[in-house]
Amino acid sequence: MPAPEFPSKRAPAYLDIPDEQWSDWRWQLSHRLNSLEDFEPILELTESERAALSAKDLFRVDITPYFVSLIDPKDPNDPIRRQVIPTAAEMTKFTGMMEDSLSEDAHSPVPGLVHRYPDRVLMLVTTQCASYCRYCTRARIVGDASATFSRDEINAQIDYLERTPQVRDVLLSGGDPLVLAPKLLEDLLTRLRAIPHIEIIRIGSRVPVFMPMRVTDELCDMLAKFHPLWMNIHVNHPNEITRELAEATDKLSRAGIPLGNQSVLLAGVNDCAHIQRKLVQDLVRIRVRPYYLYICDLVEGGGHFRTPVSKGIEIIEGLRGHTSGFAVPTFVVDAPGGGGKIPVMPNYILSSSDHNVVLRNYEGFISTYEEPLDYPPHNKETCPFCRDKRTEIGQSGVFGLLDEERMTIKPEGFDQLHTRGGGIHRLREDSGKWKPLGIGGGEEE
Ligand SMILES: *Cc1c(COP(=O)(O)O)cnc(C)c1O
Repeated sequence: MPAPEFPSKRAPAYLDIPDEQWSDWRWQLSHRLNSLEDFEPILELTESERAALSAKDLFRVDITPYFVSLIDPKDPNDPIRRQVIPTAAEMTKFTGMMEDSLSEDAHSPVPGLVHRYPDRVLMLVTTQCASYCRYCTRARIVGDASATFSRDEINAQIDYLERTPQVRDVLLSGGDPLVLAPKLLEDLLTRLRAIPHIEIIRIGSRVPVFMPMRVTDELCDMLAKFHPLWMNIHVNHPNEITRELAEATDKLSRAGIPLGNQSVLLAGVNDCAHIQRKLVQDLVRIRVRPYYLYICDLVEGGGHFRTPVSKGIEIIEGLRGHTSGFAVPTFVVDAPGGGGKIPVMPNYILSSSDHNVVLRNYEGFISTYEEPLDYPPHNKETCPFCRDKRTEIGQSGVFGLLDEERMTIKPEGFDQLHTRGGGIHRLREDSGKWKPLGIGGGEEE
C-alpha cells in the first residue's frame, strides 16, 4: 500500500472540480496556468512576480493545477513556488552565464542526441514539459514548441544509435518524454529495443511530480514491455512528496521500474542539510533512491538559484553516516564547457603512508586501515575481463593512466608550448577566457 500519511492538496479554487476530471492527466495539461490572470485567484502574487508574469520573452511558464495546489498561497518564499513561479530576478544577467553551459550542442552528433560518455547517450525527444522549472538547464530549447524534434530528427537519432555499437544505455530526456503522445512514446521505445546493443533504457521525467495522475496502469503496462527500463524523477523539496506522488511511484515500482531521484541544489529552496535529510528520507519511503544532487547550472534566468559548491559538500556531510547509505545522493558539478558530471564530496582520507591510510568518519572518529604489504597484483594477462576491454581512443581518461594505457594527459597546446624552449608563459584575456599564448613575447594566435 502506498504510504497514506503524505498529504493530498487542492487549491480552494479547484474544490468544485469533479474528481474524475482532477485525476485525468489530460484535464491537468489543458488547464495549466500561465498568465497573471490565471495565478491571481490562486496565489497572493508579489510585485516581483507580477513584473515577471507580465514580461515578454521570459522562459515559458506553465504549471499544472495539481502542482500549483502544493504552494502556500500566502508565502512568497514557498519552496515549490520558487521553483515554478518567475520573479524579476530572472531578468538579471550574471558573470559566467551561458546559453548552453554544458556544451550539449557541441557534443551532439545529430540534433538532440548528446554523446558525451563512451557507452551512453542522452536523447532529447521533445522540448515540452508538464510544467516548467525556472532554473531549467535546457532553457535554450525547452518550452519552445517550434524547437521540438521532428520525425526526421528522431529518425536521425535512431540511425546514429543503430550504427554506434558502443552505446549500451540510452537516456530519454528533453523536455519530458512522458508528455509525448502515448503512441509516439511506445513507438520510440519499440525502435530502441529493436537495437540489439542497447542494453538499458532510462527515462528522466518530472511528470510523476508535476502530474502524478499521468502514471496510469496503462502507462505502467506499456513501459513494462521494455525492460530493463529505469526511471529518474526530479523532486527538490519534501513538500513535493504527496499521496498522489506516492501512488505513482508505487505503480512504477510494481511495474518493475527502479526509481531514482535527481535534485538540483537551489538557493532559498533546498540549500539546507535538514531539508535535504527530510527529502531523502521521504524519497526512500516512496521507494525512490536519491541518485544525484546537482549544482545549479550557469543558465540564463537561473543566477539567483546558484549556491557556492561548498553548500553541496556541507549537505553531503550532513547526510553521509547520519542516514541510510542508500538515501545519500552523489553531489555533482556538471562541468561548464561540457566536461560532464564531476562528483564532489567531503574529504574522508586524512593521511596515508606506504601501508596505512588514516580516515575519519562522519562523527570525527579517526581510524587507520592497515594495507597489506604483500598484495599480489591483479593479473591482467589472465583476467578475461581485462583482455576483453573495449575503450574508445581518448576516452580511457584518468583510469587509462592507472591502467597503463598511457602515461600523461596533456592540456591543449602543451607540446607546442614546451618544445620552443625557455621564455615566459603568458596569458591573455581573450573573449572572457584566459588562454595560453605561447612562450616569449609573441602576439601570435
Ligand atoms: C547525465 C548525462 C548522462 C548520464 O550520466 P550518468 O552519470 O550515467 O547518469 C549521459 N549523457 C549526458 C550528456 C549527461 O548529461
